[in-house]
Parts: sequence; structure tokens; C-alpha cells
Amino acid sequence: MSRTFACMHSNPAPEHDLSATQQCVMCGMCVPHCPTYALTLNEADGPRGRIALMLGMHQGRLEPDEATIEHLTRCLSCRACERICPSKVPYGQLIDAARARIAPLHPAPRRITWLRDGLLLRPARLLLFGTWLRLLQRLHLDRLPLPRPLARLARLAPPLAPVFRPRADYPATAPRRGAVGLFLGCMGPVFEAENLRAAIRVLNAWGYDVSIPESQGCCGAMHQHGGDPARSQAMAAGVEATFQPLGLDAVVGVSSGCMAQLAEHTDLPVFELSDFLVRHVPSPLPALRPIERQVAVHLPCTQRNVLRRPDSALHLLRLIPGLSVVELPGNDRCCGAAGTHMLTHPEQADALRAPKIEAFRTLGADQLCSTNVGCAMHLGAGLREADRRAEVVHPVRLLAEALVDPGGVA
Ligand code: SF4
Ligand code: SF4
Repeated sequence: MSRTFACMHSNPAPEHDLSATQQCVMCGMCVPHCPTYALTLNEADGPRGRIALMLGMHQGRLEPDEATIEHLTRCLSCRACERICPSKVPYGQLIDAARARIAPLHPAPRRITWLRDGLLLRPARLLLFGTWLRLLQRLHLDRLPLPRPLARLARLAPPLAPVFRPRADYPATAPRRGAVGLFLGCMGPVFEAENLRAAIRVLNAWGYDVSIPESQGCCGAMHQHGGDPARSQAMAAGVEATFQPLGLDAVVGVSSGCMAQLAEHTDLPVFELSDFLVRHVPSPLPALRPIERQVAVHLPCTQRNVLRRPDSALHLLRLIPGLSVVELPGNDRCCGAAGTHMLTHPEQADALRAPKIEAFRTLGADQLCSTNVGCAMHLGAGLREADRRAEVVHPVRLLAEALVDPGGVA
């Protein structure tokens, strides 16, 4: 262990570099904004405490023991601390570097690496799993005992639509304004099939041709935050190499976690879909029928703290006549999904989700919107457990529902 850390301290690779810990003045302004600190009130479960641990690692004074590793792995990478920090400490980059350093000492559980590398990153296998899970859901057999880790994934899955098998191109259905690429995400064709179909309809109605190149790959976010930034970088580079030659006006996606990763690790013109749509509202607006419903909007941390476009979904939904749009109370706090955290730290994830479910119940809203796939699955599972049958959808679903001329997307 000491060999490893002495070597990294003297000449750290960029992805292991913890030198920015020295920017922290230990003021503590970030601490009250940290969801994990709020749960335990332990300084080492807050950003300042974690930075102190990482500083010790950087200076070669601390060799991480089990407790240190747990304080670092419990961090949600929500970056609420980074957003508030007056010294501009790049906390997100630091926690990824710390995890890359401790990865050899604390490999991810095998069930998680299998789920990530053996299922989510194998499109053919994932499509098969999606089709099979949908069949179980339709036969009401999805509560059957399943082997771990499939059981938790199956519990998290919303009622599934048929898997999305895209064409390469979908031409605009309104006067043409440009061309965008749609990034599907590794989970998208199975877990966000209806969101993707709605995205195409609305983009076409907004006047955009939509290109969906084959074999897009994964953004790499799970590897970035899971101790393998080198592989993550290679994955983001693969996405960039797929979209760059197409000369598109933008690359859009329905999951803010993926789009935040691509925004920070590629040179592509990347936008989360609701943000792109609200920046390019056509004039005149396509005809929209009223939706008499109340919708609560959950803001994922990646939308708020990384992409820093927290209001896009709210503004977009307010275009729909009749729709009552409210922010879900507590949107400044992570819901606990946090990538694979909801699988590795289910108790923490459930504790952070509980106030969101309660807030939704108190509001009495009909539907919940989120722009991130992981949050939507985690919150949706919470609603089902609380016997609230409300579906969690991307805002674009409501817009597609409101379109008077919805166009045709297989
Ligand atoms: S990370 Fe920023 S806000 Fe938090 S203690 Fe350090 S300097 Fe203060
Ligand atoms: S990223 Fe989130 S969970 Fe981690 S220390 Fe910062 S505020 Fe806390």
C-alpha cells in the first residue's frame, strides 16, 4: 500500500492528481449543503472532511484504511459542495481522482462490475434482458426471485415499453432549422424507450432532423465515478469519434448524467434535451393541446450542479397550456440515486429518497418529471413502494403528448 501512495504522491498521473485539495481554505461553507453530512453529522461524511482526507493522501501523510475508503465511497458526487465553494475547489475532479487511487485497494463489488460491464455495456445482452423483463412485468412475474444483481435492477425498472430500435435518420416535420444527433445512452433503448421516441417527435416538430448513429457506446460516467477514469475517457472519446464527423448542430440526450459527462469530457456541442429545446423554441410554436394536470419537477444534481441549467425543464413544461408546473421541494438535495450508489449504498439512497417521496405525496401532484434516467428509476421505485402509481417521465414526454400533430416514430 505504502509503495503505491509514495509513487503517486511524487508524480501523480492527471487522473490521480489531488493537488487541488490545497485550494480548500476549510471555511466549511459547503458543509450544510452536503446530503451525506446531513444524514450522519460526521465531518468525514461532508466535503470539508473528505477534502482533508484527500489532502492527507496527496501529501503522503495518510494511507487510506477501511474507514477512510468508506467516507470517500459514500460521497454521491452530487457536487452541491462544488457549486457553493467560494474558493472554486474542483471537488468533482478530486473525488474521482481519489476513487481512482483507492480502486486497487477497494475494487467495486463484482455484482456492480458485472452489471456495468457485463450487462449495461453489452447492447445485445441488455436488449435481451429488457425484452425478458418486460415480458415478466406483463405476466406480473417480476417479483419472482431473481439472481442478484438482476433483482435490484428489476425492482428499479419502471413498467417497460417495447425496446427502442432506432432508424439512422428522422427528418424534421416542420420547416427545417438544423440537424441534431441523439445520444441514446447505454440504458436508453431499454429503460428510456418512450422518452427517446418522444424526443424525436418533439425535435422533428421543432424543425430538427435527428440522426442516430449506430454503436454510439456509453458516456463513461459510471467508470468516471467508479475509479476507472482512463477507461471512462476512452469511452467518451469513442462517443466523440462517432458524432464529430457528422457535423451536427448539437448532440442532445434525455439523461442529464450522460450529457454532463460528455460536456466535461468531449468537445462535442452537448445539451441535455430540455435545455436544447428551451433554447430553441420555434416561433410560431407548434400547436399544443392543453394538459390539465399538475406535474412536479425533480432537478437532478447533474442538471443543477454540473450543467448548471436548473430551470430549463420548468421553462419547457410551462409552454404546455393547462399544465400546472411546480418544483419538487428539496431539489437542492440529491435524491440518492447517484449513478451506481443506489445499488452499492441502498440504505443511504433510500434515506435520501424518502423526503422526496413525502414531498411529492404532500403536493398531491399527478406526475413527476426528471431529466436523468437514474433519478427517474430510483424515484419511480420509491413511488411504487409508497403505492403512488405516478410515472416518472422526462419533460419531453409531456411535450410530445401535447403535440397536436405528433408525427410518427416507430
Ligand atoms: S471546499 Fe470550498 S466551501 Fe468547502 S471548505 Fe473548502 S473552501 Fe470552503
Ligand atoms: S459531492 Fe455531494 S455528497 Fe459528495 S461531499 Fe460534495 S455535497 Fe457531499
